[in-house]
Amino acid sequence: MSRIAIIGGGISGLAAAFDLEQRRQAAHDVEYTLYESSSRLGGVLRTEYIDGCVVEAGPDSFVTEKPWAADLCRLVGLGDQLIGSNDADRKTHILTRGRLVEMPDGLMFMVPTKILPTGLSPLFSWKTKLRMAQELFHPPRAVNHDESVADFVERHYGREMVDRLADPLLSGVYGGESSSLSVRAVLQRFAEMERTHGSLGRAMLAARRKVSYGPRKAAPPLFTSLRNGMQSLAEAIVSRLNPASLLTNTPVKAIQPESGGWTVSVGGQAEHFDAVIVALPGPAAADVLRNVSSDLSSELGAIQYTSSITVGLEYDLEVRQGLPPGFGFLVPRGEGKRLLAATFVHNKFPHRAPGDRALLRCFFAGNNAESVWDLTDEQIVGVVREELQQILGPQIHGLRAAPLFARVYKWKRAMAQYGVGHLERLQRIETLHTAIPGLALAGNGYRGIGVPDCVRSGRESVKQLLT
Ligand SMILES: Cc1cc2nc3c(=O)[nH]c(=O)nc-3n(C[C@H](O)[C@H](O)[C@H](O)COP(=O)(O)OP(=O)(O)OC[C@H]3O[C@@H](n4cnc5c(N)ncnc54)[C@H](O)[C@@H]3O)c2cc1C
Repeated sequence: MSRIAIIGGGISGLAAAFDLEQRRQAAHDVEYTLYESSSRLGGVLRTEYIDGCVVEAGPDSFVTEKPWAADLCRLVGLGDQLIGSNDADRKTHILTRGRLVEMPDGLMFMVPTKILPTGLSPLFSWKTKLRMAQELFHPPRAVNHDESVADFVERHYGREMVDRLADPLLSGVYGGESSSLSVRAVLQRFAEMERTHGSLGRAMLAARRKVSYGPRKAAPPLFTSLRNGMQSLAEAIVSRLNPASLLTNTPVKAIQPESGGWTVSVGGQAEHFDAVIVALPGPAAADVLRNVSSDLSSELGAIQYTSSITVGLEYDLEVRQGLPPGFGFLVPRGEGKRLLAATFVHNKFPHRAPGDRALLRCFFAGNNAESVWDLTDEQIVGVVREELQQILGPQIHGLRAAPLFARVYKWKRAMAQYGVGHLERLQRIETLHTAIPGLALAGNGYRGIGVPDCVRSGRESVKQLLT
């Protein structure tokens, strides 16, 4: 009999627990206990149902391109609940000198693939447009060191592209700044394109020529989610687990190798296991592993995390009709706002709000989140309302009135920042942790912050231990 402890009940830990439960039911000789410090399972996957709206406190969807989360949804019986984003309305606006400007068609992250829309867009100056044209002639380039996303993008397209697009786009995903994120860890595909093609523009066009969706095969939606919200994934997994194996309100203080296995210390008690999966954010993992290996613990502790705040607000039909079309807007830091982004949820996932309501999801992260962190929820809603009015213009009268509801969700250091040198750090972590038998690591600190990557990391941790 293998007894395995899972520490952390977010989606990474739950995915691991699901795999162990499947093995248990298939009469494999395995047992597991999942320890979660808070009173609920799911970690940052949290959904509230308010006034007919599906309000996501944490992630609202995941990228369709990465299959692991949708696969797990199907395995737990949620296949018929999977929904795609309403890409017919997929427009994003960027606040540019106080005005919302639509991102031009054909822009793949920051790489233009259609000349005309980018050439005509007021989003970029002529200087940047010229850089885009010149970029098409960049020769292949072997770079043998990591660099920041900002440096990489600036090398290709100039500073304006960093400030106006790369930085706000990445803030929406990592909550961090492009000047500290690693291009190899965060934009691996682009780094590879530079190596093989030199020009990202040419590489992107070559890749697009290979993938052609015929008239019968439409491109899949960019984002996938669940009809009743992301928390339903956590709930469906939990409903398939052995309740006796789930310990909430049980923070693990430390783990320690002992007698060929592991001791997990919780409060004044200790439990013995054969193996442990640590499915925690880097700093929490560092803390739990401090008695196991100080080197491993300090590498994990060095993975930076930022805090984020989401604010869900509901408005009436007048606001809905007055908003620009599309999925929402991003705010470059240079615009001097505290908000980093807002999603028009009723457009992105239409059934998440009644047809006569607007559902907005506003986002603060990193330094911007810290700048409002200590305010009361009411004050944070005040900041959001003021900035929404400034950004969306005084012509939407309904925005002056109080929202029909507003909810604030704070996430302390939940988003990993893959800093320059992250992949080298991962190598050191792997060397250190594989030398310790019976220990596996899962979570968003390693090879992907998104829900699909976390699911994959949880499931792979089980394979690592049991094969
Ligand atoms: C606001 C926000 C929006 C996001 N949006 C998206 C999105 O749209 N799409 C997407 O794909 N990803 C998104 N992400 C990222 C993604 O949701 C997370 O990276 C992922 O869910 C993390 O899961 P996890 O299980 O690794 O960690 P967590 O969810 O952080 O879970 C870790 C768990 O461990 C518990 N814990 C901590 N210490 C201990 C201890 N000592 N003992 C026991 N338990 C402990 C915590 O209470 C927590 O429940 C978003 C993240 C945030 C914060």
